[in-house]
Amino acid sequence: MHHSDKDPIIAVATAAGRGGIGILRLSFGKALEAQIVGRLFGENCTLKARYAHLLPFLGTDGGVLDRAIVLLFPAPHSYTGESVLEIQAHGGPVLLSLIMRTCLEKCRDLGLRMAEPGEFTRRAFMNGRMDLTQAEAVADLIDAVSESAVQAAGRSLSGEFSNAVRDVDGNITELRAFIEATLDFPEEDIDVIGSEKVRTRLVQAETGIRAILENARQGQVLREGVTVAIVGSPNVGKSSLLNALAQEEVAIVTDIPGTTRDRIEHWVSLNGVPVKMVDTAGIRTTDDVVESKGIERTLVEIRKADVVLHLKDASGLIRDDTEVLDKVLKEVRHGVPLITVNNKVDLCESAASGGEIAISAKQGVGLSELKARLLEVVGMAATTDGVFMARERHLQCLKTAAEHVSRALLLIDCDPMPELVAEELRLASRALGEILGETTTEDILGMIFSKFCIGK
Ligand code: GDP
Ligand code: ZN
Repeated sequence: MHHSDKDPIIAVATAAGRGGIGILRLSFGKALEAQIVGRLFGENCTLKARYAHLLPFLGTDGGVLDRAIVLLFPAPHSYTGESVLEIQAHGGPVLLSLIMRTCLEKCRDLGLRMAEPGEFTRRAFMNGRMDLTQAEAVADLIDAVSESAVQAAGRSLSGEFSNAVRDVDGNITELRAFIEATLDFPEEDIDVIGSEKVRTRLVQAETGIRAILENARQGQVLREGVTVAIVGSPNVGKSSLLNALAQEEVAIVTDIPGTTRDRIEHWVSLNGVPVKMVDTAGIRTTDDVVESKGIERTLVEIRKADVVLHLKDASGLIRDDTEVLDKVLKEVRHGVPLITVNNKVDLCESAASGGEIAISAKQGVGLSELKARLLEVVGMAATTDGVFMARERHLQCLKTAAEHVSRALLLIDCDPMPELVAEELRLASRALGEILGETTTEDILGMIFSKFCIGK
């Protein structure tokens, strides 16, 4: 069946499962307002705008299913920009799905259907209630796994990210208009392109984009988190370290070498940055089939990690099987930081040498230093105040925009052709517009909204 983005839609907006209340939401064109309200609450029923009405909700057989608080937000002053009807019922999953089916049945001839994931927010975007970055922030706010992530998503939702992008874009567009204007008056022969004013403003634009990019990069880390693979020989204390960082028992700690055969991962929050710590099987030469499978899996983890933490035994009791370990550490991707950490310093007199971090997983020594180093290598050492939530898509657009502005700067140095400079600026603007959803293709929009939960 072909779904139109004009169909009236309905979904349960609250989480699945039991709850005190459960909310159903309908969105539809203003023209359908009286009909839908009539079908659901009786032909004589009219709802005052944005006013809480306590009404019985009747089943198809006329019996009362529930008494609900009903609110009507007439277009355009609603979440979607269409008319929105909210039914706040009791939060039982069976009740809610029964109410939904009843609504669908009563309004079948009006074309009411279940909403697709993200469809309410998609309509909000289509109707200009929010730009694309804000729409994405809605999903990110719901999915946020740390308080810093919540704050960053909140900043994007309130438009801080969009406004920063719009500001730079505005400057670029103004500059382009200025340059294009000179194209129409070549006889005046003033060196507009080579002027200090143009150069200064281009440099400002580039600096501006790079500043947004840095905030966005940190936002992306808050959104997606960082994966740290802990590798090392058996019994150096990998599982103990994971437990110490997680501050709870998540991995099995034993004295028997090779115990951690399955991958064990746990999310910890370091300064609000979500970090997935992955405990891996110990690395050593082995004939044991299960254990060598574990090593293979460790290799897989290493290739996926954002940071690799090589844990060593500082006490000297456990020596690394350097041959195997070197082979494994060779698999660390280019550009992925490798941190060497000496564990069990409680067992030795002098701490480890030369810049390596010394800890005792057992006694909780040196952990804050280790956390600080982890945050440092992923570029999250500074406070995340002012960071806004962002995605890979945004970073790509920002990088593209920055490249075009850099190229414009290069162009004004060599035989300046105003047309070419203007073209670079046009491309920079297009990339920035894509962030806000002004020049975004249908495919990209479909991909973004399909990741939303139903009812949002
Ligand atoms: P893994 O095989 O690398 O995961 O090592 P485990 O975390 O299972 O630890 C192996 C043994 O080393 C256990 O007996 C731990 O109690 C011990 N151990 C771990 N960290 C420390 C530490 O910092 N100090 C001391 N003294 N013992 C530790
Ligand atoms: Zn272990």
